[in-house]
Amino acid sequence: MIPYGRQCISERDIDAVLDVLKSDFLTQGPAVINFEESLRGKVQSRFALAVTNATSALHLACLALGLGPGDTLWTSPISFVASANAALYCGANVDFVDIDLASHNMCPLALVEKLESAAKAGQLPKVVMPVHMGGLSCDMEAIKKACDKYGVKIIEDASHAIGGIYNDRPVGACLYSDITVFSFHPVKIITTGEGGALLTNDPVLYEKMALLRSHGVTRDPGLMVGESHGDWYYQQLALGYNYRMTDIQAALGRSQLEDLDEFVRARHQIASKYDEGLRHLPITLPVVKTSASTSSLHLYVIRLNRHVLRKNRKNVFSELRESGIGVNVHYIPIHLQPYFADLGFTLGDFPKSEEYYESAISIPMHPGLADDDQQAVISALGEVLV
Ligand SMILES: *Cc1c(COP(=O)(O)O)cnc(C)c1O
Repeated sequence: MIPYGRQCISERDIDAVLDVLKSDFLTQGPAVINFEESLRGKVQSRFALAVTNATSALHLACLALGLGPGDTLWTSPISFVASANAALYCGANVDFVDIDLASHNMCPLALVEKLESAAKAGQLPKVVMPVHMGGLSCDMEAIKKACDKYGVKIIEDASHAIGGIYNDRPVGACLYSDITVFSFHPVKIITTGEGGALLTNDPVLYEKMALLRSHGVTRDPGLMVGESHGDWYYQQLALGYNYRMTDIQAALGRSQLEDLDEFVRARHQIASKYDEGLRHLPITLPVVKTSASTSSLHLYVIRLNRHVLRKNRKNVFSELRESGIGVNVHYIPIHLQPYFADLGFTLGDFPKSEEYYESAISIPMHPGLADDDQQAVISALGEVLV
């Protein structure tokens, strides 16, 4: 089976991990600090924090923005469930803004309309969480303008999008958001095994998230209530978690980061070949570049033109799998998950997301995809989509 995504590990990556294993630190230590320094340099943010995964990063981001019971967060239905769960972890409510079918991202017009009626009803969200689907940045300028009008905070779920560009700046620069989150799961653009990061330009948010990453405990006498008892002393100031990344993972991450540009370049090369090889088929190809945004190309999602196809998505999907093509579907709309149906969401709530879901298939996209494997994908699609 040709996988839809896969990590790329170099000899340098392996050596970096081995060096940590021979060093004094295994969990959060100098390699984490180095990784964070490299990350914030690469994406041009003031601060970076490495954590256990993007799910915990999203949780910390929500906590840092004060999201809690009685508050609401809006995200996109077309995302991994973790985007919405972050709000629920904080005891807050979640709601969704429908997508734009061309970009697969949160639709800024739908956001503006929904904010307008929420303002009238006195039910504004505290946080909006756009998701850069497949690595293509959302229209952050429009989203920020809409949110600023009502004082709504923004967390970018950029789990797909490290290496992406928006308005000539790296995704993660946080010019249009309070906090940006990356994932380093192996199918994403760069990996640390499990891992995630938080980027921000706000020193107060950074300090809050750093505290909550490690039990809400500080060893900094400057932050303590009263006097320190001595060098052994620490204080718990908030209810935090253990969301620390290990040095083993951070060393891998730092080494992977050196290949980021090359990974994204390779993904674009593969996308160009797909664009060329698939354009005659009854499918809609993904947008990988606009005037504002260049995708990191985590995913290459094709959409079946269902009105001209005699087969449905289910048949196309299983025929591709039978041909050894590791296709996938990203994502099942979150509001249609049974857990969210129990919260009151139902079919018909977000029609564009539902239409997207009925037609979307992710085909193999990763830097290690060999030429002949990609050719096999293109041929299989040609045969299945007749
Ligand atoms: C992968 C992913 C997450 C969760 O990432 P983990 O690092 O696995 O916790 C969250 N949001 C989106 C959009 C993702 O794709």
